[in-house]
Amino acid sequence: ALAAEQHIELAPGALRDGELLPLLANLGSSADCAQAVRLGAEGVGLFRTEFLFLDSQTAPTVAEQQAHYTSVLAAFPGQKVVVRCLDAGADKPLKFLHGGREENPALGLRGLRALRANEEVLRDQLTALAGAERATSAELWVMAPMVTDLAETRYFVELARKLGVRVAGVMAEIPSLALMADQVVLACDFVSIGTNDLTQYTMAADRMLGSVASYQDPWHPAVLRLVKLIGDAGTGAGRPIGVCGEAASDPLLSVVLVGLGATSLSMTAAALADVRAELLRYTRVEAAQLAARVLGASSAAEARALARDFVANSL
Ligand code: PEP
Ligand code: MG
Repeated sequence: ALAAEQHIELAPGALRDGELLPLLANLGSSADCAQAVRLGAEGVGLFRTEFLFLDSQTAPTVAEQQAHYTSVLAAFPGQKVVVRCLDAGADKPLKFLHGGREENPALGLRGLRALRANEEVLRDQLTALAGAERATSAELWVMAPMVTDLAETRYFVELARKLGVRVAGVMAEIPSLALMADQVVLACDFVSIGTNDLTQYTMAADRMLGSVASYQDPWHPAVLRLVKLIGDAGTGAGRPIGVCGEAASDPLLSVVLVGLGATSLSMTAAALADVRAELLRYTRVEAAQLAARVLGASSAAEARALARDFVANSL
């Protein structure tokens, strides 16, 4: 029984009809790699590089970064590792990227905006990443955080390719990008949806602020409609669409995300087993039916209720 259990736990993510749905891990450092591998991660869907440098007073060198990235990539031979460029922001200030105090830091110079204002830092990171890929057998995908529009997408992809990155994409976590998804997918290799920030900006509720925490709910149909725009764009253009926000670790919501067009899910490694087990209960058609049902809800609470009702009565 133990062997069977272990086998199930480490089987690749899939729907009931056999369609593969890669389940990846979110990482903050190379120390998280071993646990992710042990819990059956099929690669990495979000490596948050800014966590490596929260205490750094000065920008890290190319050599220093390349050593870090190589150790992470080496833990996933032959597998996909999606690395996010430095995402400095309100919750994660980086001394060497920060432009000073802001009244509304969630709406400020952050993510790709801050990298663009300090382009040498971005160039060094992309150079280090390309070097790390050449040193290992992992398949490196690199993405930019907090991308606002098509122009920023083009800027990032062009620079990444020029510096030797082979697969370059963007995170969809600002509604302006989601609304332009049909054009954005044509300008990059993949999109990864960050539902934490996408929810924050869709609901206009600071995710750091306890008094508005109830708005931070990715089940809200307003958020899911934006996810659908991105999913439809990805399906239409044949581009992979990942989800790497917290929403992907909610088993029932993960099925909704797949029904909306997500082609891979990335989450904290501890959530992999439950999401894997839930996905196995649905076919592609059922996931799409579930998503369609939930999109018609008028609130997050109704979306949850409709989803539970669908599972109880329609399957
Ligand atoms: C997100 O915004 O959903 C995301 C994955 O990035 P972070 O939580 O690091 O902002
Ligand atoms: Mg984010």
